[in-house]
Amino acid sequence: METTDLIPSRTDDNESHPTARRIQRLSLHLTPAPRPLDRTDAQLQALTCASRAAKLNVDTKSLIVCMRGKHRDVQEKVFEFFNARPELQTPVEISKDDHRELCMRQLLALVREAGIRPFGYVAEDPAKYFAILEAVGSVDMSLGIKMGVQYSLWGGAVLNLGTKKHKDKYYDGIDNLEYPGCFAMTELHHGSNVQGIQTVATFDPITDEFIIDTPNDGAIKWWIGNAAVHGKFASVFAKLMLPTHDTKGVSDMGVHAFIVPIRDFKTHETLPGIEIHDCGHKIGLNGVDNGALRFRSVRIPRDNLLNRFGDVSRDGKYTSSLPSINKRFAATLGELVGGRVGLAYSSVSVLKVAATIAIRYSLLRQQFGPPKQPEVSILDYQSQQHKLMPMLASTYAFHFATLHLVEKYSEMKKSHDEQLVGDVHALSAGLKAYVTSYTAKSLSTCRESCGGHGYAAVNRFGILRNDHDIFQTFEGDNTVLLQQVAGDLLKQYKEKFRGGTLAVTWNYLRESMNTYLSQPNPVTARWESEDHLRDPKFQLDAFRYRTSRLLQSVAVRLNKHSKTLGSFGAWNRCLNHLLTLAESHIESVILEKLIENVKSCPDASSRAALKLVCDLYALDRIWNDIGTYRNVDYVAPNKAKAIHKLTEYLSFQVRNIAGELVDSFDLPDYVTRAPIAMQSEAYSQYTQYVGF
Ligand SMILES: Cc1cc2nc3c(=O)[nH]c(=O)nc-3n(C[C@H](O)[C@H](O)[C@H](O)COP(=O)(O)OP(=O)(O)OC[C@H]3O[C@@H](n4cnc5c(N)ncnc54)[C@H](O)[C@@H]3O)c2cc1C
Repeated sequence: METTDLIPSRTDDNESHPTARRIQRLSLHLTPAPRPLDRTDAQLQALTCASRAAKLNVDTKSLIVCMRGKHRDVQEKVFEFFNARPELQTPVEISKDDHRELCMRQLLALVREAGIRPFGYVAEDPAKYFAILEAVGSVDMSLGIKMGVQYSLWGGAVLNLGTKKHKDKYYDGIDNLEYPGCFAMTELHHGSNVQGIQTVATFDPITDEFIIDTPNDGAIKWWIGNAAVHGKFASVFAKLMLPTHDTKGVSDMGVHAFIVPIRDFKTHETLPGIEIHDCGHKIGLNGVDNGALRFRSVRIPRDNLLNRFGDVSRDGKYTSSLPSINKRFAATLGELVGGRVGLAYSSVSVLKVAATIAIRYSLLRQQFGPPKQPEVSILDYQSQQHKLMPMLASTYAFHFATLHLVEKYSEMKKSHDEQLVGDVHALSAGLKAYVTSYTAKSLSTCRESCGGHGYAAVNRFGILRNDHDIFQTFEGDNTVLLQQVAGDLLKQYKEKFRGGTLAVTWNYLRESMNTYLSQPNPVTARWESEDHLRDPKFQLDAFRYRTSRLLQSVAVRLNKHSKTLGSFGAWNRCLNHLLTLAESHIESVILEKLIENVKSCPDASSRAALKLVCDLYALDRIWNDIGTYRNVDYVAPNKAKAIHKLTEYLSFQVRNIAGELVDSFDLPDYVTRAPIAMQSEAYSQYTQYVGF
């Protein structure tokens, strides 16, 4: 059958045959540039990259299998449930209060009607929990966050910071939503600096209770999810104060978490001593009821201390297996990294949705063309490819990197291996920061690449952008998290020179730091063949070389500046350098995981597609930072030019299979649901939406 036979026509009989129309739609999708446009396509191709572009044949079904996580079945259950329940779907226009109520109804329905019980998986099978979170977040990101607050934050605090008595008492109520709860860590004056929080929990040995107090306005708990409307409990982070017999009167044992009931179980009235206010309308995530909490001498039983890392006896004696406040604090926060893993993972899913909408629309939309010829698809413009194809490649790269993170996190939850704990901590911080920042920027690019139609709320970019934006801040501000990665790298660097062992993620430093720090080879710096540039060894070496140089140079600078500025001042003097180092390292890890997944992909056609995507990801990143490589002569001028040309060529190649690549994300129409993503039906869907 000729491709032209499949081009939809408004007058065609097929309009009345849904099956034929569906085939047309798919054919457009699978063969993005139909016949009449092929000539134009070739012209554009000739303009950009001579005549080398043979389109790869992609078997979408096989690629879907390569991409599919282990828990697709439960995700499908979520989609089917909400698809069948239109009254539970979030409309485009909805008030804050209605949205909050709808979100609670959605969560209750998920748990009590669809029978999906996420809490059980938080500890037992985190990969399944994150898969549910991803699916639920695609239904409505507010719902994903509401679910995360209930199970990962409030529930996670009870499971991970409490002991058996807490699990026995609270598990079922958290699981079946009888105990909706909050995670109250942030205060008005302290967000990132958790150790600076001022809420206090003072032990009263006479009544065997803790007294929770907000000592000043700056200590009001702020932004607390589930607090404004639905929460009945809060896990409150406060400084534990023990009475002493010296002149000070109390001793500060550091930040601990306490279970505090905040509303009456039956009447839902706010309990005495507690004041709750609404944080109000937000830029996004308005289905989540964020509130502010103030405590005035609120008494709770001693048992409500979540006492896994530190306990207080009946007579007021403190015990802990960990020797210092700092160690206890690190252990406490270390148990909470699951939220970060979930955000990194969910952010990739947002990127998949946005990239799918933008790419499907760009394949369909036609503007301008050579004289007297049909208009061309906007994805044939080199500039549109430049905006969207490296982003598509990055989406694939992040997909595999975050799957790896989830695997490591699950392993860590089982083994509690100390080295793995450190590794997952740094990796989750780095990936969360890197991926969420990238997605946030990409959402604007996707909107822009769909022109004016990208601005219609029904096409989803606005809500995705607004809801996702805060992913860069909560569960750890990205700039702060990247510093943790840099700090960890420096620790590993010192360790290496002491001859100690390095955590798994930093293996490459152990193996070849010296190689990377030697002078670049002037011969290989000039190699420019396609085979060489597409060799994973060249690509990984280039990434690691950059990280090693950044690491060594920042270590030297820190050492120098600390003599005059002290360690805090020196760190601040080198801060941008440190952030670049952290990003560079995370990019290396992402590339490494992508290369591994290309190699292990069992299907040849999918492997070829992934290899193409991988080369584009790697060379685009190298090209973006070409100044650094040129400065140290790692890349000679002729090689830099070759990298640039090849990146454009690869973008063009990826464009040719872009339809198949986004199909392989396997997102149901229900999730992308933007009329402009509906391929050949885009305009009719869209005009219908507007009322024609
Ligand atoms: C919608 C929403 C929901 C939330 N839900 C909850 C919740 O349920 N429970 C809860 O406890 N909290 C919650 N939070 C709070 C959230 O975790 C904090 O906002 C976050 O930790 C950042 O703290 P901050 O807002 O005080 O920012 P700050 O720490 O004041 O940061 C402001 C800016 O300063 C920069 N900065 C800060 N420190 C440094 C540094 N050392 N180096 C360089 N730059 C720095 C940051 O990069 C940032 O750009 C929520 C917040 C929002 C907006």
